[in-house]
Amino acid sequence: MDLLGAFLFPKRCAICDGILKVGQEELCHACQRIPREVGEDCCAYCGKPVAEEECCEDCRDSRRSFEYGRSALWYDAAMRQSMSRFKYHGRQEYAAYYGAVLARKYGEWIRDVAPQALIPVPLHRRRYQKRGYNQAELIARELGKRCDVPVDGEYLFRKRDTTPQKELSRWERQRNLQNAFYVGNVSGELCKYERCVIIIDDIYTTGSTVESCSHVLRANGTDKIYFLCVCTGLGY
Ligand SMILES: [Zn+2]
Ligand SMILES: [Zn+2]
Repeated sequence: MDLLGAFLFPKRCAICDGILKVGQEELCHACQRIPREVGEDCCAYCGKPVAEEECCEDCRDSRRSFEYGRSALWYDAAMRQSMSRFKYHGRQEYAAYYGAVLARKYGEWIRDVAPQALIPVPLHRRRYQKRGYNQAELIARELGKRCDVPVDGEYLFRKRDTTPQKELSRWERQRNLQNAFYVGNVSGELCKYERCVIIIDDIYTTGSTVESCSHVLRANGTDKIYFLCVCTGLGY
């Protein structure tokens, strides 16, 4: 960014939204310690923090079409605010922070998994037009850039404009998402080679979104499906 750009659109801290000083990247000094990383005690399938169990309740009770997946940060009050500004108030630049966190925490793992592509969870066309961007795709691009994996945002699509998941109960969420996604036939070549992918999303809650995406990808010939999300919570 040139000097005028930096003056007109200063970079902001992805946690407190304060203007960053020269030399500060992504977060201001005061916010460095605020984001809480997900530790080792997590569900083997979905990576949700669990106390002692191997597997969380949701993964025990629901079908899982993916291998497994992980998230980087707890979805606590600070991340809730951060995500809300990112998704609803145009702070697209936060994607750089989210991508960097995922790359730092899971970069090595991504190299081992060696996916052909990162697949962002798609938004329905109407919501995309309203928001102007797909937050999951921005995160995927920042991560892909850092880990040298291509992002394919033209493979998986959302069919219906589903009700926002956060307004629904667990049972309703699963129903809401049934048949919500489909694989497009836009690029025969890409479809043919995507046998191992990592789905990328912003927030992991019950896993119904990732499960619905995985189910469709698997039905279309993807063998290995993993996922990475920026945040994970213990439900709303
Ligand atoms: Zn800050
Ligand atoms: Zn789980």
